[in-house]
Amino acid sequence: MKNDGSCLCGKIKFLVKKDIQTVYHCHCSLCRKQSGTGANSATLVNETLFEWISGTDSISTFKKDTGFTSFFCMNCGSPVPNKVGNSSFMWIPLGLLNNMPIIKKRLGFCLTSKSNWSPVVTLDREYLELPSWNELKEYFD
Ligand SMILES: [Zn+2]
Ligand SMILES: [Zn+2]
Repeated sequence: MKNDGSCLCGKIKFLVKKDIQTVYHCHCSLCRKQSGTGANSATLVNETLFEWISGTDSISTFKKDTGFTSFFCMNCGSPVPNKVGNSSFMWIPLGLLNNMPIIKKRLGFCLTSKSNWSPVVTLDREYLELPSWNELKEYFD
């Protein structure tokens, strides 16, 4: 199944060319501030299964001194997909999807940073901190 997504204003559109079955919620302070909510809810897909449809010229970035970078629509402010470092994965914020995927696995990251007002989500696997990149990418290969 194909999953298409778009930002709040609709300028930026993309396509994920696979079923999205595994998702994660990261509660770290960076993800909370970047998303404006209790956790970043996202998935990773191989870049070969990702396609921009429109609006890449509307993408702006903000980079912290640590290197953490937020990519967002300069017109409406929605976080938008971006490549994870120099990996072959694209990060996909789930809130941009226009259809509901059928989820098989829900992961929770950085639960030590979870706020006391965060929505309660049933998780299949919980991590107190971020899992290592090697462990993380196994879930999305
Ligand atoms: Zn937008
Ligand atoms: Zn995080």
